Amino acid sequence: MEKKEIRNSETENKIFEPLFNIKGIENMEVYEKHGGYLALKKAFKEKKSELLSEVKNANLRGRGGAGFPAGIKWGFMPEDPNIEKYLIVNADEGEPGTFKDKYIMSKIPHLLIEGMIITSYIVGIKTGYIYIRGEYENYARILEKAIEEAKKKRYLGKNILGKKHVFNIIVHRGAGAYICGEETALIESLEGKRAHPRLKPPFPANSGLYGKPTLINNVETIASIPSIINKGGFWFASLGTQKNGGTRLFGISGKVKNPGIYELPMGTNLKDIIYKYAGGIKDDKELKAVIPGGISSPVLTPEEIDISMDFDSLMKAGSMLGSGAIMVFDEDDSMVEVLRIMIDFYAHESCGQCAPCRYGTDVLKKMIYSVYNKEVNEEILDMIEETASGIIGKTICPFGDAVGMAVGTIIRKFKKEFFDYLRDKND
Ligand code: SF4
Repeated sequence: MEKKEIRNSETENKIFEPLFNIKGIENMEVYEKHGGYLALKKAFKEKKSELLSEVKNANLRGRGGAGFPAGIKWGFMPEDPNIEKYLIVNADEGEPGTFKDKYIMSKIPHLLIEGMIITSYIVGIKTGYIYIRGEYENYARILEKAIEEAKKKRYLGKNILGKKHVFNIIVHRGAGAYICGEETALIESLEGKRAHPRLKPPFPANSGLYGKPTLINNVETIASIPSIINKGGFWFASLGTQKNGGTRLFGISGKVKNPGIYELPMGTNLKDIIYKYAGGIKDDKELKAVIPGGISSPVLTPEEIDISMDFDSLMKAGSMLGSGAIMVFDEDDSMVEVLRIMIDFYAHESCGQCAPCRYGTDVLKKMIYSVYNKEVNEEILDMIEETASGIIGKTICPFGDAVGMAVGTIIRKFKKEFFDYLRDKND
């Protein structure tokens, strides 16, 4: 891990950043020296219902992309302690441009483990999985080492801290397919099957892993739990906006002077993230476009970046906060090239289960390549938009919607550039 990628920002109320900067914090001894596992000890003295209320009060919304309120999701899990349930931490982190979870796992693995144990206690779960992408082998090993340390300290296993609570964690490596980041595809993969997303309902809280109620949350979501227990749900909520509690690890890449990870309050203005925290556009060039939340989130133009980075504001603007991965493009970047790279990715990663996505991404790829190779005239741009919008709302999982929206938006917002590109056929 390159330390310089984690950037210090000004605000004081942070969850991750102070820990990122402590040398050796990945080890139990150092983690405990800096308050590690105190939240777990505190949680074990509280009633489960009160702990769940804290999580609800925190307005913690899923950090993986969908932004569903964590407390409400947890509330869907059956309370009966005799029902077998599972916890899965989604550590697939496959969204292009996203690189935040690897920092949590590599630098503060115990924060994630502590969050998982507290979650298991509140929801009444005995087995937890960390589903980690295969490419993150180094981070998987760091997690396994931290799990062994936690077992030795009896934070994992039977009778944790003398309580009648049993919890164990298994690190499961995926094989690198993007669709495994979709929760039901992840479950299929974990069961040893091909990662095809399931039709919902039933939702995982009713029928998930091996048909049992299953709670799935992203790494950043679960790693936020110890701070909520330590400082209270309302404290966490107060860090963000009204319906978007806490801070967010924004990962900014592309044409900025200081790319990296910034922990900032939910609702921080996107323009400030780019110009104030990331230092502005590299070589002081003109900004051309911003993808605000990973490749699946529709692009924003420079006129649209004066916006609060929270789930609701981005949705209102026709985009998504997604994984908080901000990609910045300058005047030298070709949006035709950006679209070509995107469709290569989408066509490759479609799981092929439903026809609109399987054929749609293939047809879009052919059309976009015909633009890229200047083999067609401008009329094809409307056809691309039409084909992209034809996928939306007709597929089993949100991948199809993401393709349709992301492709259609690039064409719509940068049509003049596409026109100019096609007209200048000798370029
Ligand atoms: Fe698979 Fe695409 Fe259908 Fe999702 S939308 S299930 S990725 S074919």
